[in-house]
Amino acid sequence: MVDFSKLHPETQLVQGGINRSPYGETSESLFLTQGFVYETAEAAEARFKGEEPGFIYSRYANPTVDMFEKRMCLLEGAEDARATASGMAAVSSALLCQLQAGDHIVAAKQLFGSCRWVVETLAPKYGIETTLIDGTKTEQWEAACKANTKVFFFESPTNPMLALIDIAAVAKLAKSKGVTTVIDNVFATPVLQKPLELGIDVVCYSATKHIDGQGRCLGGVVLSSKEWIDENLHDYFRHTGPSMSPFNAWTLLKGLETLSLRVEKQTDNAGKVADWLAEQTAIGKVLYPGRDDHPQAELARQQMKGGSTMICFEMKGGKAAAFAFENALEIIRISNNLGDAKSLVTHPATTTHKNLSEEARLEQGILPGSVRLSVGLEHSDDLIADLAQALEKAGA
Ligand SMILES: *Cc1c(COP(=O)(O)O)cnc(C)c1O
Repeated sequence: MVDFSKLHPETQLVQGGINRSPYGETSESLFLTQGFVYETAEAAEARFKGEEPGFIYSRYANPTVDMFEKRMCLLEGAEDARATASGMAAVSSALLCQLQAGDHIVAAKQLFGSCRWVVETLAPKYGIETTLIDGTKTEQWEAACKANTKVFFFESPTNPMLALIDIAAVAKLAKSKGVTTVIDNVFATPVLQKPLELGIDVVCYSATKHIDGQGRCLGGVVLSSKEWIDENLHDYFRHTGPSMSPFNAWTLLKGLETLSLRVEKQTDNAGKVADWLAEQTAIGKVLYPGRDDHPQAELARQQMKGGSTMICFEMKGGKAAAFAFENALEIIRISNNLGDAKSLVTHPATTTHKNLSEEARLEQGILPGSVRLSVGLEHSDDLIADLAQALEKAGA
């Protein structure tokens, strides 16, 4: 038996976690079934008692979903995982399963909109307190800690401004205070950033983004130690039912086969596009973690293997210029999604971050002219030509 944990990510992504049926199929099989039948009543009893291995019900576990979880564990270097119906199911489960009334969360205010709603609006309804801080300032994590602080939660790079949080420093501080760290690693992807190696306890993904990467289905995953999952997520997951559909797990397994190829190529394209954008007079600041002029370029080199597939830049002409520019694009499409093979552009202030107050947006640096670009797999020359014609057409 090959020990895939010792092999390279490219090999893990193609071969890891496969559990072939007696037919010896090449591709991962799709077990589109709700439940499982037993030869005898005794066998059912033994399986429910945990005395015999096997599947019981697809809300708990399913062979196709299990292959997806095992492949993700190999890639992330995690002991265990639970696949969820969406990225938000992953984040909300990872947080709520371990918290109770009277507990306190410290979270970076630079969060994906729904993640911020979970900690800022939902958690307090259950008596869980939240303090939002500027996550890029490590000292603010320490200052916000209280006797009842249970969880630190953040993303890095952040959406949409691509600010970085010092993962190793925040993880170290959390360990010294007995606080559990939960990271949403969507923007970096498991290819470019390994939070568990940097000391993080729990990693969440929206598999909807780069892991599918081809616009097909929603999914998510929570990864951690076996102990943390057994003690926190196992029962919560079984009884609240955020489970992933076997069909989506099958699709995402096929997505994983090409994940590193896609992320590396998209990152390469993003670097070229960011360099070109930085030279345009109509464009103000370009934020890309792979460029030397990113405010945290040194930290990016320490904790990421590449600059990511995402760029954020400012149209000097504000909202009107940003809209005219987006409307003039012909290859790059307008969408709030990201991580896709297709390049996608979005205007955060009026879409993904419209629910924040103007003040909260400005605090994070989200301006009326801010544009977020998710760079895809198209040829970089064609993307640059499209951006150039759109800038010209927009009169910017
Ligand atoms: C998209 C996204 C999510 C939510 O994922 P869904 O699959 O849409 O539920 C969470 N965090 C980040 C950073 C995201 O980009």
